[in-house]
Amino acid sequence: MFKQLVIATGNKGKLREITHLLSPLNIEIIPQSALNVPESEEPFCTFIENALAKARHASKHSGLPALADDSGLCVDALQGAPGVISARYAGEPKSDEANNQKLLTVMQGENNRHAHFYCVMVLVRHENDPEPIIAEGQWHGEILTEYRGNDGFGYDPLFLDDKTGKTVAELPLEIKSRISHRGHAMSKLLQKLERLNHA
Ligand code: IMP
Repeated sequence: MFKQLVIATGNKGKLREITHLLSPLNIEIIPQSALNVPESEEPFCTFIENALAKARHASKHSGLPALADDSGLCVDALQGAPGVISARYAGEPKSDEANNQKLLTVMQGENNRHAHFYCVMVLVRHENDPEPIIAEGQWHGEILTEYRGNDGFGYDPLFLDDKTGKTVAELPLEIKSRISHRGHAMSKLLQKLERLNHA
């Protein structure tokens, strides 16, 4: 098992959650910003391609194993949008507030509010790793018509978790980590790593 892992994201909300999810492991978690890894391009139209690109990019620049998360919100009534462009739904510069406002506007009057978060995690042990470790997770819920809650990031205040009846922005980190798309993807990734370590 490696001793250090670079996290290929500049998103502070993701970084906080990923660091929490990896805390049971005895490895040093290094944000890519601490190694001056520049932001990677995300030119592809699928989450998996973008996640692979980000993980390889961080591993190439750091010379270390790297983990990337590519994720987003997929809304049924919008045929899966904003999807891979979730971070930039309202254009540049990236803004959670502008993205949420745009989502509220395009969903005005829409009765079908069902949506899900999707996350794919990719871990590469080196830049040219031919067998990246890949895991995905989903989280189903509804898009509200107004904000609720102050925690989290991105679309959290507009996404209602069906089971708890709370928005993600109303859930503590420990609970979000257990039931979220990112939590599910990470738990599958850790199981795969465990199997590899005992193979
Ligand atoms: P990425 O950095 O290209 O993977 O974009 C991720 C974007 O998807 C974030 O900037 C958010 O807009 C959205 N997103 C992904 N996961 C979450 C989450 O857990 N809560 C809220 N928004 C999320």
